[in-house]
Amino acid sequence: MNREVSVIICAAGKGSRAGFGKNKLLLPLPGGAGETVLEHTVRAFVRAEVGQIVVAAAPCDRAKIENLLAPYSPLCIVTEGGETRTRSVKNALAAVTGRIVLVHDGARPYVSEKVIADCIQSVRACGSGVCALPLTDTAVRAKDGFIADVPPRDEMFAVQTPQGFLTAELKAAYEKTGKENYTDDSAVYAKFIRPPRLFIGEKENRKLTFAEDFRAPAPPLPLSGDGGKTADVPPLLFPRAQALGAARVGIGVDTHAFGKAQDYIVLAGVKIPAESGLIAHSDGDVLAHAVTDAALSAAGLRDIGFYFPDTDEKWRGADSMEMLRAALQEVKKTGFVPCNVSVAVQAQKPRLGKFIPAMSENLAKTMNIPLSAVGIAAGTNEGLGFVGEGKGITVTAAVLLQTF
Ligand code: MG
Repeated sequence: MNREVSVIICAAGKGSRAGFGKNKLLLPLPGGAGETVLEHTVRAFVRAEVGQIVVAAAPCDRAKIENLLAPYSPLCIVTEGGETRTRSVKNALAAVTGRIVLVHDGARPYVSEKVIADCIQSVRACGSGVCALPLTDTAVRAKDGFIADVPPRDEMFAVQTPQGFLTAELKAAYEKTGKENYTDDSAVYAKFIRPPRLFIGEKENRKLTFAEDFRAPAPPLPLSGDGGKTADVPPLLFPRAQALGAARVGIGVDTHAFGKAQDYIVLAGVKIPAESGLIAHSDGDVLAHAVTDAALSAAGLRDIGFYFPDTDEKWRGADSMEMLRAALQEVKKTGFVPCNVSVAVQAQKPRLGKFIPAMSENLAKTMNIPLSAVGIAAGTNEGLGFVGEGKGITVTAAVLLQTF
């Protein structure tokens, strides 16, 4: 154990950006075996054999966190967090015993032993060490929605944690802070002591910020550092989707019964002559409904009935392709757009073959995908079951989403 090194773990946040209404650090680690994000973070420093771990906890979470971290006592202690991050670190610093102190976000559970060792080494060699990643995208300064300035990319870094300092210097810096809040310790140190030194971290050491981050599977824990050579910019809008670069598939199934007094049905927005229409609150476009559910499901969202309840007069007789369009807007908010759609229609009647090109074209347009990315197959049910007896139509759809 290295008694020279203490670490402060900031766990007093409210997690309001994650939208949970509670401390996100007490949620299970995505893809983990049930342990919380905070335990995972603490364990990274236990493995690194630091001499002391000080966890800053909000008063409302303190008992819970003390309980959770009891197995790591007395190595790990809990101090009371303040209203701001600056307050919390200031309180925690009072309990620090090591000559070197690292400050780390509780929401970065994927910090590796190499990053921790590099941080400590930087403090030993240069008096400070702030974990940072070179930007691979161009960063700009914007004003009123327009680019005001383009700083040289090789001068730009994304700052993470851990951030390491000599305890006496960081304490002296924090003693000079008043009521103002600073985003991190490097800002406090830079203002009151001197510019801190950067060291290159790892892209895996990402921060779990948004609710999506908690639905994502965890990235594999890094075995060793890559020196930041493959570092990416933490994406601004859709961190989970873009970090994973993932494709998501979803399926949707819908059935509607014949019986409406009209001489057509609507499939993918195309009117098709029929003995009667499909019974529905909306226009009965069973194909659009299946595709909508598939897209919502792929994005991990609720189903069509949640967004377009059939108790809502607004959707009476609604154009279901417009509902699909609106659902895709919801999907887009999660960072995904459709990549392709595959549809299987089971209908004993009417015959659909000659309408398929128009249906495909409508789907391609509404979903904003190429025509070649739309597949529609139509078949009868060989006279079997309610479909075979001509009582209704069932449609199954699969939608693949990709990041944009
Ligand atoms: Mg339906």
